[in-house]
Amino acid sequence: MAQLYFRYGAMNSGKSIEILKVAHNYEEQNKSVLIFTSVLDDRDEVGYVSSRIGLRREAIPIHPHTDVFEIVRRQPEPVSCVLVDEVQFLKKEHIMQLTSIVDELDIPVMGFGLKNDFRNELFEGSRYMLLYADKLEEMKTICWFCERKATMNLRVDGNGNPVYTGDQILIGGNDRYYPVCRKCHRNPPL
Ligand SMILES: [Zn+2]
Repeated sequence: MAQLYFRYGAMNSGKSIEILKVAHNYEEQNKSVLIFTSVLDDRDEVGYVSSRIGLRREAIPIHPHTDVFEIVRRQPEPVSCVLVDEVQFLKKEHIMQLTSIVDELDIPVMGFGLKNDFRNELFEGSRYMLLYADKLEEMKTICWFCERKATMNLRVDGNGNPVYTGDQILIGGNDRYYPVCRKCHRNPPL
């Protein structure tokens, strides 16, 4: 029976690399996968899953009004697995569509994304993935500043100062994000 998976981790925990790896493994067995990614900018016609090690491939963009269930249902060929990058940016209705893909079409869905934003609040997509997923898996990475496990994302502005308030999603700008542990999130050794 198909299941809904939420594989979450801080920045740089290898989520995109893992998507590309899972897709490769299916395709090696001649099974087809569909890769989606959330696209915040409505003008983007194409989405990409890009990893830091340079691998990249096209993905079907999910805009605020995209019906992911319908796209999967209308595929002419059987789909073995649905992979979704940046699942944290999806709306609740998108997550409900993912549950329908699993329950009605019997296709496994793996969503990859961040759990918490830089303020340590849940993203909308992550909140509903945590509530609805059958399987939760933490993808581990180490804190940027110490040896602890990174469980949070630190936002640093262009002047090197940590940022704890403001809009959840910043498009453009010079801010950077670092995977950090709880202690370094509170008192980053910048
Ligand atoms: Zn730390």
